[in-house]
Amino acid sequence: MTVMPDKKTEYEESATSWRELDPEEVKKGIMAKYPPKVARKRSKHFVVNKKKDEQSYEPIQANVRTIPGIISQRGCCYAGCKGVVMGPTRDIINLTHGPIGCGFYSWLTRRNQTDPSTTPDGHNFMTYCFSTDIEDKEVIFGGEKKLKQAIQEAFDIFKPKMISVFSTCPIGLIGDDIHSVTREMQEKLGITIFGFSCEGYKGVSQSAGHHVANNGLFMHVIGQDDTVQEGEYKVNLLGEYNIGGDEFIIDELFEKCGIKIISTFSGNSSVDHFRNSHTADLNLIMCHRSINYVADMMEEKYGIPWMKINFLGAKSTAASLRKIAQYYGDQKLIDRVEEVIAEEMVDVEKAQADVQTRLKGKLAMMFVGGSRAHHYQELFNEMGMQTIAAGYEFAHRDDYEGRHVLPSITVDSDSRNIEELDVEKDPTRYNPRIPEDEMEQEERHGIKLKTYDGMMPDMEENFTYSIDDISQYETEKMIEIYKPAIFCAGIKEKYMVQKHGMPMKQLHSYDSGGPYAVFKGAINFYYEIDRMINSKVWGHIRAPWEENPELAAMYANE
Ligand code: SF4
Repeated sequence: MTVMPDKKTEYEESATSWRELDPEEVKKGIMAKYPPKVARKRSKHFVVNKKKDEQSYEPIQANVRTIPGIISQRGCCYAGCKGVVMGPTRDIINLTHGPIGCGFYSWLTRRNQTDPSTTPDGHNFMTYCFSTDIEDKEVIFGGEKKLKQAIQEAFDIFKPKMISVFSTCPIGLIGDDIHSVTREMQEKLGITIFGFSCEGYKGVSQSAGHHVANNGLFMHVIGQDDTVQEGEYKVNLLGEYNIGGDEFIIDELFEKCGIKIISTFSGNSSVDHFRNSHTADLNLIMCHRSINYVADMMEEKYGIPWMKINFLGAKSTAASLRKIAQYYGDQKLIDRVEEVIAEEMVDVEKAQADVQTRLKGKLAMMFVGGSRAHHYQELFNEMGMQTIAAGYEFAHRDDYEGRHVLPSITVDSDSRNIEELDVEKDPTRYNPRIPEDEMEQEERHGIKLKTYDGMMPDMEENFTYSIDDISQYETEKMIEIYKPAIFCAGIKEKYMVQKHGMPMKQLHSYDSGGPYAVFKGAINFYYEIDRMINSKVWGHIRAPWEENPELAAMYANE
């Protein structure tokens, strides 16, 4: 059901520009609709971006359970584990142990692409949906037997290198021991088989599932192959999922600069690349939330430093390339990176000047992912647009406020639910890639390592909002008050936003668009947004509530 927007307050009616609106008053008006207890809770997630002191911003509450009854953007733990992290890997059979509904609706819900030609056996299982399809009988008598049969069948037909099994809610509730089944089948079949306890109810959001998936890869896969590959500057790309082909063009750009990607976690990925990833010199983090702990663990165990980068937006891409070159401190790489940037920026600047004539000053809102709502603001800035409100569906406080808040984040029972691994130096493979003192100081050639400032410092102070796990009601009110030119979110919000007569850009799967990463992708994005915003079709849309403002209903027994 779509919530009908309430009438505007007199205060909102009298404002002629969004800059005349006092964000605190707007927030108060929106919260007033909730019962007092709900309003108190939601107020902590809905903050006006402003500084509290030199270093800190107003704190935001994140990573706590959605209030029942509120329509949320979030996905479940299983969706994060199976769909987001493991889904984009082409040569693993990802087998859902559970009802077919969980399996089917987590099948290719994101447009991850892959290139099987670079894998020796050419395996690509991403187009299949594997599930044990448990039914009443297994819910009553247990599903372990059916799971063993399913693993055997998948092995007999496809001969994969690896099978992973995902527990859904009913499996956790009936208590099937997927780990003993996978151990037994691994012994029997002689390939890597392991399970993820990622029951949907296990965490606050899909973020818990990312953590379970990453821990599984770290324990069972990373470090299995010590082959040292050719290449001067070897990196892993962490938190990049190749939606719409983003990883392909990042890879192309890196090749032009002379940088080699050993493994991407987990877009365009393969089991062999994961197994060899501990041989890279540097880890680059795109989506901070989905993977920052893997970078920490790889540093601890193998001595690989990490830094945060962003390849969305031409300016951010140039800055990230310069950061990587500076880290290595090799003049040859620094010069090559500058040449590539100069070459690519010619077309970028031409496109920016063109779209700015039609887009300058327009407003955008974005509520997506665990770094995307931050990263995409760069692209909108480059078009001369202003992001008025942004937020995440599964972020934690550090993704908004920066990693300096980590010590002040309370560890609650939901966080304790997800296993934290005890990591030690690998006795034979630990090899610090930079001098130990630089590792300790977390700085190399003036480049800060192991840090991320979060989204808030990059948003305009006093006028803009960070909104965590935005509800449908808040979404509709913000649209009604600010009338943004475009709204970015996922499939669940798509049609509700379009009914307001405005374009909605999906940033989880891009619909049919992309790639949008690096310089070439930035140009694609500018023209896609230009086309969407300036299409005349939105002016012809009438939402149902504009014609029939009230829906009346009766109870059947009335
Ligand atoms: S919440 Fe549970 S039942 Fe629902 S999709 Fe996730 S795993 Fe399946």
